[in-house]
This record gives sequence, structure tokens and C-alpha cells, in this order.
Amino acid sequence: MRAAFDSFGRLDRRERRAVAADEALRGLQRAAGALPSLLAYGSGRSYGDSCHNDAGALVEMRTKNAILHFDPASGILEAEAGASLHEILVHTAPYGYFLPVTPGTRFVTLGGAIANDVHGKNHHARGTFGCHVESFRLLRSDGVIRDCSAGENPDLFAATIGGMGLTGLMLSARLRLMRVGSLDIDERITPFSSLDAYFDLAGEADAQNEYAVAWVDQLAVANRGVLITGNHAANGNFRTGGPAARLGVPFDLPFSLLNRLSLKLFNNAYFHAKKRKDAPHRSGYGAFFYPLDGIGDWNRLYGPAGLHQHQSVIPFEAARVTIPAMLDASRRAGHASFLTVLKRFGAVPSPGLLSFPRPGYTLTMDFPNRGATTRALLETLDRMTVAAGGRVNPYKDGRMSASTFRAGFPDWHRLESIRDTAFCSDFWRRTALAGPAGDGVPKETMRTP
Ligand SMILES: Cc1cc2nc3c(=O)[nH]c(=O)nc-3n(C[C@H](O)[C@H](O)[C@H](O)COP(=O)(O)OP(=O)(O)OC[C@H]3O[C@@H](n4cnc5c(N)ncnc54)[C@H](O)[C@@H]3O)c2cc1C
Repeated sequence: MRAAFDSFGRLDRRERRAVAADEALRGLQRAAGALPSLLAYGSGRSYGDSCHNDAGALVEMRTKNAILHFDPASGILEAEAGASLHEILVHTAPYGYFLPVTPGTRFVTLGGAIANDVHGKNHHARGTFGCHVESFRLLRSDGVIRDCSAGENPDLFAATIGGMGLTGLMLSARLRLMRVGSLDIDERITPFSSLDAYFDLAGEADAQNEYAVAWVDQLAVANRGVLITGNHAANGNFRTGGPAARLGVPFDLPFSLLNRLSLKLFNNAYFHAKKRKDAPHRSGYGAFFYPLDGIGDWNRLYGPAGLHQHQSVIPFEAARVTIPAMLDASRRAGHASFLTVLKRFGAVPSPGLLSFPRPGYTLTMDFPNRGATTRALLETLDRMTVAAGGRVNPYKDGRMSASTFRAGFPDWHRLESIRDTAFCSDFWRRTALAGPAGDGVPKETMRTP
């Protein structure tokens, strides 16, 4: 099957309709009305259907990737929205700069990073990606390009950051980069033997370090793991290297290689390898920030049925009870998570209307898709998240219910009221627009998709 414009979870592979960026731009600028419902598509590194629009067409934004301007004195970069984070790094690292916030892959686009208001291992220190966006240019279906910033069109600025592409097409953006001592990281690994031990360490680790994240052995009943902390080294280098993966999964596997046994072996080996490195040491920035970028198409390891990622954020007051219970629920369901990551979100407010991060702990688990049993587990995890006052990440999701989404994001109807009705996604139809109208939502804010 030729599947194009997949999302990273590869859950629903099919041929998708897409229009070239220039065609969409011309159509929108003429306010022609002849275009189908649209949605920007960056690099498709979202996991589910928030980057899909099967009832309409995707707009291929990756081709619009020019770096327009960089001022080494202020660290402000202006680029087209399809530029990847890697391309931005290559351009700016030689001047002593790094991304102030980076997700775990550098293959995402500037537009995608803003539209999902992504977070990194330093949320406690720098907040989300959107906190560092000075402004962007947004084309809406009335044909007008609007400059948006905290001072100009502030409502559109807030709705577009974390707005999942629903407010129009971002053409370009200005981003404030962070001056660093080098790209290299002085890293420290602290093993822990239980989640309580991790929770005892996490606050102080955030206070002392730019970056902090924990890997958890989800298969071990005691929830052992390692806390990985780091800071930019003062005397390292600024070489960005090539983005090419050193290893790759060259073809679609007929079944998932990731089963309970292989994961048990992997987790054991990983835990002990990391534990041995508990003395402070130097790590290259690629290994520290983007370890999975080194293995091309690693999502193919999950086989033809794809993978589900479940990312939740649980408020501090509930985390010590709810997070161990979620890991326990996954084990009891017989599901092994390939990668289980725990991170403390800080209190830096997101500028976005519907951004995912909020203060608390965020738990991320990757499950091979085994159909109904996996979905049943994910629904259990959803219920536990909502009961704890938390929320489930929309851009990692391809199946949460309308009520789970609405419970986590009670302001969803404010985004709906400013959404450009010429833009929609499968995710939005499935959640915001599919739930019962009424639901405390003012009638006039309900629109037709
Ligand atoms: C290995 C891996 C690690 C990851 N780690 C993290 C992490 O640590 N933290 C985190 O937050 N996320 C993480 N992610 C998720 C990823 O960072 C986000 O999903 C990101 O937003 C994807 O960007 P993209 O360019 O691929 O956009 P796509 O997935 O193609 O699209 C994402 C959204 O952006 C919108 N969009 C894209 N371009 C534009 C535009 N020009 N104008 C308007 N809207 C636009 C789309 O409509 C869609 O709603 C990870 C993903 C992977 C695969």
C-alpha cells in the first residue's frame, strides 16, 4: 500500500489528499472558496490524527523552509514555517545559540512546533516552545495575512500557539533563540529504585539543572529507573552534524519486534548501562536530546498495526498515587511500554489557549497497537488521568473520546470560536465537534466543520 502523509503512530495508513503549499496560498489569498477543508501538514511527527484531515486536504508546508533572517546580536531568527528544527540549528549554532525548547526529535517543523506548543526536558525552566515565539504571519481563509504577536492580534496569537493548525496557515515565524556555552551537555545519571525515590529527587533536580527527565522500567514492579539531568557545557563544541540516521529500519515489518520478552531484555540492559554511567560525563547534543533520531523509521519496529503513545499530565497533588497506579494498570493489562518517560512540568505559563502542559508530572508510554485490548487499556489510563484532574495530550492521540478531551481542555470552545472554518482536522471532528452540543458551550460558538 502506498501511504503518504502518515502520522508517526502509523495507525491509520492510507493515501491522503494533499495540495502544494503554493496552490493553497494562491487559493486562500484569492479567498476563492473552491478549496476543500484544509489543514497544514509539517513533518507528520504527531502520533495520531491531529495532523490529518481525511474529509478535506492537507497542505504540504515542509517545502516552505527558507531561513529568512537571523540577528546574532539578539538571537532572533525568522524562518518560513516549514523549516525544520534541525535546519534552524544548523543556521544558528555557529553563532552560539540553541533552541530554547526542543522536543525529542529535530525533524519537526517550526510551524508544527508552534501549532502543538511543544515542550522539552527544560519545561520547568523555559516553559513551552510558544513562550519563545515573538510573532508569526497567519493566512486565514478571508485571504488576509495577519501579523500576530502578544501585542498585535493577541487573540489569534494565543489561539494559534497550541491551536493544532485550526486557525489558518502559519507562513513564517520569529523565534527567540537561547545563547549557550556549547551544544554539548554535562550529563548526570541518578538511578532510582522506586517512584517515591524519583518524586523525592525530581523537584531538586529541576531547581539545579536546565534539563531533567526520567526513564522508567515499566515492566519492573518496583518501577525502577534513571533520572537524567544535564546542562550545556561551557567548553564544548557547536558542531551540529548531519541529521542522517546512522541505523535504520529499511522496510515495513510484518509483525512487531517489540514484545514483552524483548522489552524486558532491553529494559534490563538499558538500566544497567545507564547505572554504570553515574559519574558526571559529557554527552553530545544528538545523543542527549534526540537519541531516537539516530535510528531511521524506528516506528516501523512496531509492525503494520502501528503504535499508540499515551501522554498524560497529572497535577502534583495526585501524582504520587495516580502515576504508580497507571503503570500498574498497564502491567496488569499485560501491555509493555517500549519507552516510558516521566517528567516534571513547571509553572511557567504557556501563551497558548489550548497548550497541553500544566504544572504536574507528565507520563509518556508507547504501546504496540494490539487492537481492542490496547484501546481498553488506553481508556483506563484516560479515566485515571481525568479523575486525577489531569489531561491527555491531543497531538499524541488518535482515539480519545470527546468527553476525555473536553474534560482536560474545558476551554476547547474558545478555540472553536476563533477556528477558521475552512480548516479542520480528524482529531477536532472526533472530539470537539463530536461531543454533545450544549455541554455548557454557548450555542453561537458551535460551528459547522
Ligand atoms: C520521536 C519523537 C519525539 C517527540 N518528542 C516530543 C517532546 O519531547 N515534546 C513534545 O511536545 N512533542 C514531542 N513529539 C511530538 C512532536 O514534537 C509534535 O507532534 C510536533 O508538533 C510535530 O511537528 P511536525 O512539524 O511534524 O507537524 P505535524 O505533525 O505535521 O503537524 C502538527 C500540527 O501542526 C499543525 N501545523 C504544521 N505546520 C503548520 C503551519 N505552517 N501552520 C499552521 N499549523 C501547522 C498541523 O496542522 C498539526 O495540527 C515527539 C515526536 C516524535 C516522533
